[in-house]
Amino acid sequence: MRTHQQMKASSLLFPHPRHLEDKEGVFRLHETTSVAAEPLLNAIGDQCAVLLGCKRGGEDILFKVQKEMAEEAYRLTITKNQIVIRSSTPIGSFRALSTLRRLALLTDNILPCCLVEDEPSYSWRGFMLDCSRHMFSVPFIKKLIDIASLFHLNRFHWHLTDDQGWRIPLEGYEKLETTASKRTESQYTDGRTYGRLYTKEEILEIQAYAHEHHMLIIPELETPGHVSALLAAYPELGCTKGPYTVPDSWGIFEEVLCAGNEGVFTFLEDAIAQISELFSDPYIHIGGDECPHRAWEACPACRNRMKELDLQHAHQLQAYMTSRICKLVEKAGKRPIGWDEVLEGTELLGLPKDLIVMSWRGLGGGIEASKRGHQVIMSPNTAGCYFDYKHLDSEEEMGNLGVSTLRDVASFACTPPSLDPSVRQNILGGQANLWTEKVTSSKQAEYLLFPRLMFMAGQLWNPQQTETNLAKREVLQMLCDNLGVLSYRGPLS
Ligand SMILES: [Zn+2]
Repeated sequence: MRTHQQMKASSLLFPHPRHLEDKEGVFRLHETTSVAAEPLLNAIGDQCAVLLGCKRGGEDILFKVQKEMAEEAYRLTITKNQIVIRSSTPIGSFRALSTLRRLALLTDNILPCCLVEDEPSYSWRGFMLDCSRHMFSVPFIKKLIDIASLFHLNRFHWHLTDDQGWRIPLEGYEKLETTASKRTESQYTDGRTYGRLYTKEEILEIQAYAHEHHMLIIPELETPGHVSALLAAYPELGCTKGPYTVPDSWGIFEEVLCAGNEGVFTFLEDAIAQISELFSDPYIHIGGDECPHRAWEACPACRNRMKELDLQHAHQLQAYMTSRICKLVEKAGKRPIGWDEVLEGTELLGLPKDLIVMSWRGLGGGIEASKRGHQVIMSPNTAGCYFDYKHLDSEEEMGNLGVSTLRDVASFACTPPSLDPSVRQNILGGQANLWTEKVTSSKQAEYLLFPRLMFMAGQLWNPQQTETNLAKREVLQMLCDNLGVLSYRGPLS
C-alpha cells in the first residue's frame, strides 16, 4: 500500500470539504481504537468499527447527534486523543465516516488532525451502469457502490432493459427469461448465447447494500424505444407484431412499443407495479431516448390513435406515451424520470410536471426543462459525463463514440455561472453514465470509471476550479491503487 503519512488533511481530502482547518499532530487508528455512537447513530457506529477495523466500546471515535444540521451535513474533529463526528442524521454521519475512511486509506491509519465542516452543493449525485448490453456481477456492482459512496455519491441509476437484453424478473412473463434476457452472439460460430435475468434475490441484495451505503437505486425501464429484447419475447407489443429478435449489434432500432395498442399499456402498468414493489426507493426511470417514429407512421393502430387525439405528427405521439407512462409510475407511488427527448412534441399534450428530466444531449434540454418547471439532472455527453467515451483522443485508448478527458470531468459544472437563478433552482445535480456496448468485463469498466468517477463526485459535492481538482490527481491515483481498481494513468487531456 502506498501512503502519505506526513501530509496534511488539506492536501489529501477529495471531494473538497466546504470548510477545512489543518491542525498539528496525528490520531493513530489501530485495532484497539474504540467506537461509540448515540442511539440514533448506532448502526453507523457498527459500520465504522467494520470499515476502519476497530472495536465497539469506548469513545476514541464518537458519533454525536447535533439536531440543527442539514441532512447530509457533518462536522468532523480529529484531535490527537479523540475523533468526534456530529450530524443530525445517519446519512450525515455516513458522509463523515467516508471522509475518515479516505484519510485512513491514504495515511496507513495515521490520521492528520483537522476540523472538517461539510455539506453537499447538489442533492443528486449519481452514476449509471448499463447492465443490459453487458451484465455485471453482484460483487462487482457492490464494489462500485462502495467506492461511489466513499466519494459521497448517493444515486445508483441501474439501466436494466434495452434492445440487447432485459434483466428484470417479472412474474407472469416467463419469456422475459427464456427470450428477452438472451442474445445469440453472432461473432462466435458455436451458437452461444449471452445473458440472463438478475434474480429478485440478487436485486434485493444489491438494494440492501446500496441502502447501507446511503445510496438510492433508480431502476430504468426503457420506453417506448430500445425495446427489441422485450418485443422478441412479446411481439404483440410491437407495431408489426414481429417476429423480432434480440440483436447482438448496437445502435438505434426501428421497432418500438406500439402507441395504438392498449395491450402495451396493460403490460407497462403491470411491469411498473412489479418494479415498484421490488425497488423501494422513490424513482423509476422510464427512458424516452432515441425512439424512431417510422414504425408508428406506418402502423394503422398508431395512425388511429393520432387521429383520435388530433395529433399532427408522431413526435406528439411520443409525448402521449410519456404522459400515460408517467401516470402509471405515479399510480404505483413513484416519481418518473426521463431522458431529455421527453420534451419533444409536447406542444399539444404537455408533460406531467413531476417528471424529472435527465439532460444528456448537452445542457440545453435541462435548461429548457427547468424553464418549463421540471426538476432536472444534468448528465451531458458533451461535458465529460459519458464514461464509455475514451479518456483521450487516441487510437490506443479503449472507449466508444467520443472523448471525456480527465480535464473535461474535472471542469464539469451542472449549473454553469451563466445560468439564470430561476433555471438553477430546478437543477437537482448531475450524473455520470457508463454505457457498456463495448465494455465486456468489470476490469474494462473500472478503467473507464476511474479516476473520472472521483472527479465527477467532487464536482457534484463541492465544485472547484479545474486546476484545484487536477492537483489531487496523484491522491486519487493512490486511492484507486489502495481500493484495488484498475484506473487510467495517462495524460489529463
Ligand atoms: Zn403501432
